[in-house]
Amino acid sequence: VYLVGAGPGDPDLLTFKALRLMQRADVVLYDRLIGRGILNLVRRDAERIYVGKLPQEHTMAQHEISQLILKLARDGKRVLRLKGGDPFVFGRGGEEIELLAEAGIPFQVVPGITAASGCAAYAGIPLTHRDHAHTCIFVTGHGKDGQSDLDWKLLLQPRQTVAVYMGLAQLASLTRAFIERGAAPSLPAALIDNGTRPNQQVLIGTLATVADKAAKAGIKGPAILIIGSVVRLREKLDWFVPEEQAPLPATAPMME
Ligand code: SAH
Repeated sequence: VYLVGAGPGDPDLLTFKALRLMQRADVVLYDRLIGRGILNLVRRDAERIYVGKLPQEHTMAQHEISQLILKLARDGKRVLRLKGGDPFVFGRGGEEIELLAEAGIPFQVVPGITAASGCAAYAGIPLTHRDHAHTCIFVTGHGKDGQSDLDWKLLLQPRQTVAVYMGLAQLASLTRAFIERGAAPSLPAALIDNGTRPNQQVLIGTLATVADKAAKAGIKGPAILIIGSVVRLREKLDWFVPEEQAPLPATAPMME
């Protein structure tokens, strides 16, 4: 079994090892975060199994996925579990292979580019910078009323960048909680939606404004929130032109 990180979306961000194993797999299990462009690179005759949200909105439970991987492996198949970003960063990758480890099934883990670093790069926002931040923290905003059991003392330290995964659903309460606990409402914040993909959107605001902007723009995710003064560097370092907004290639004028 190969547990493989597929990166945040741009197929060019796959590792060479991911691609090599994708072309050897007999069966591939993937979910919502995996885009078409990446799935198309899987060996053509490999079986593809979707384990994300099903049409009836039923999500395959973690233990069901693990059981399925185990069964397929026991059938003698080369199984590849494809996960968005890095499988060991908020990816439950550990849970999925625990069963395999217990059953003595050999596996490999292939790291991927995690959303924070992929999206920040494509948004022109360095996660660290000597003038702005010497620490970068990755947290999940998923949890009751958006505050889960976040370590606020740690999150509010100066000169650091905070990348919040899974924070979109709780964006308003999350940014409010930062302010209530003492962060400056004017602290820059960027919401990167569909980062590294042709439909990437970057909303720039502050802790006080970013949630409103996201609501108005109808952001659906996946989206990652980057908080910290590094966000200002985007003014200078923005480089990525999402395809959907890219100007059409100029065609040679017809000679008459
Ligand atoms: N293992 C993944 C994270 C899975 S959690 C990784 O390492 O990246 C899912 C969260 O990742 C989403 O809620 C979102 O916050 C973030 N994410 C994943 N892909 C993204 C993308 N292309 N653009 C923006 N955020 C993304």
